[in-house]
Amino acid sequence: MSITETSPAIEAEQTPLIIGHWINGASVVPANGRTTPVYNPATGAVRAEVALADETDIAAAIASAGAGFEVWSRYSIAKRQAVLFAFRELLNARKGELAELITAEHGKVLSDAMGEILRGQEVVELATGFPHLVKGAFSENASTGIDVYSLKQPLGVVGIISPFNFPAMVPMWFFPIAIAAGNAVVLKPSEKDPSAALWMARLWQEAGLPDGVFTVLQGDKLAVDGLLESPVVQSISFVGSTPIAQYIYETASKHGKRVQALGGAKNHMLVLPDADLNLAADMAINAGYGAAGERCMAISVVLAVEPVADELIAKVAERIGTLRIGNGSSTPEPDMGPLITDVHRSKVSEYVDIAEADGATVIVDGRGFSVEGAEDGFFFGPTLLDNVPTTSRAYTEEIFGPVLSVVRVQSYDEGLDLINSGQFGNGTAIFTNDGGAARRFQNEVQVGMIGINVPIPVPVAYHSFGGWKKSLFGDAKAYGVHGFDFFTREKAITSRWLDPAAHGGINLGFPQND
Ligand code: NAD
Repeated sequence: MSITETSPAIEAEQTPLIIGHWINGASVVPANGRTTPVYNPATGAVRAEVALADETDIAAAIASAGAGFEVWSRYSIAKRQAVLFAFRELLNARKGELAELITAEHGKVLSDAMGEILRGQEVVELATGFPHLVKGAFSENASTGIDVYSLKQPLGVVGIISPFNFPAMVPMWFFPIAIAAGNAVVLKPSEKDPSAALWMARLWQEAGLPDGVFTVLQGDKLAVDGLLESPVVQSISFVGSTPIAQYIYETASKHGKRVQALGGAKNHMLVLPDADLNLAADMAINAGYGAAGERCMAISVVLAVEPVADELIAKVAERIGTLRIGNGSSTPEPDMGPLITDVHRSKVSEYVDIAEADGATVIVDGRGFSVEGAEDGFFFGPTLLDNVPTTSRAYTEEIFGPVLSVVRVQSYDEGLDLINSGQFGNGTAIFTNDGGAARRFQNEVQVGMIGINVPIPVPVAYHSFGGWKKSLFGDAKAYGVHGFDFFTREKAITSRWLDPAAHGGINLGFPQND
């Protein structure tokens, strides 16, 4: 393994560019030769190769994080807070660089890349106020002469495994809080867009974080399993697809770890007959096609309560006609970029084939779509399907592309039953002008995050993010108070400083309060 200090500019000149790990405060390109290509999805060109960790890299990353924890956990609250503020200031000043990296590897348009950074920055800002959230409690004289108090201590080395679709925001759901609470983080980003993690590692170093406290381990299943099985790693925060989330939850739990594993989604938007259909159509476009549908909070099903379906579909189709699709870093900025890989594009296309074969009507067809001058990019056009049968795999499974399925229902109850009978429970939205109906919906729907006339209800940093059912395995959601609880463990101390005159002598009974 060779350790090289590199800046992004120097790396860009290397041929071929190998995106390495970040271990012990330095970029590490391993000698094992295991790599996989990283594409620019808008051009289809290979940008770089990313290293895939082997056992030696995994051991080095975890050992360095362990050493980092020993240093960091002894830092005073004031010193930790100073580093967090410095990170926040640097991120705020330089986020444009990070947005460009995200667009180049993920494909989402630049303003959307900036949007995910801003939502991540909210969590950094929440974490700067950590002293209030990790302080314990004190009960004086809980029993006569006895004080009881609690401490919230860090876990140690914590693992974060993130998906491709938010290479900056999803890691930022976890690491600001984990680090603020005194832990050392090993982040295993998606191998599809690994550069954002390295960029953030360099920023932490500039902010004054001791080496080893923020480690990036690039890799595939081998790296993930290394984290799940390591006795040093105390917890796992995972975000990704449901089958992998379930595997992570089961495997990490078996190895005695605290786990939060956020999975996939199939988010429904219920449009009642009294809704403002222009607003509903705008929001369906925003939530269905933004980031090419590669958002876990994307709307993928519109449940149109009759008689609104025909009018709503016409409005959505009309708006689709105005969308500009292209390279997310071009000017003027398009509305929507490409999908992440060619393989994923084929999968999305197959779901449209399945829907059609099962009897759905294809109103707008994005299959075979290409952008002039960027024919090798992984573009897929916005797609609108009507009358999608609820038995079709295109309805029951997550597509994760720019495909909006309309299902016509006759009543609120029919729509609610469909939402509640699905396997996922991440997000949902109701569009109505009836406050009573919205209130009933928020109470009856079996979903973790609900929008009322809001299509992508991602909670702000001081609430917590997480779904129900197969969208979240484990008890703790991401960020907010859940985040601080997840990344700390509590000790309760019962203490008596003897007043020599009050010594009660030997008593074998169970302690009772008096
Ligand atoms: P993914 O499950 O394929 O990968 C997620 C992570 O797991 C990556 O780091 C990947 O390297 C790793 N991984 C993949 N296969 C593995 C295996 N067999 N064993 C161990 N590790 C493995 O997900 P993705 O395609 O990167 O991301 C898209 C998915 O993430 C969608 O399903 C989306 O809904 C979901 N997602 C959910 C949320 C949420 O908050 N619930 C947020 C963002 C994304």
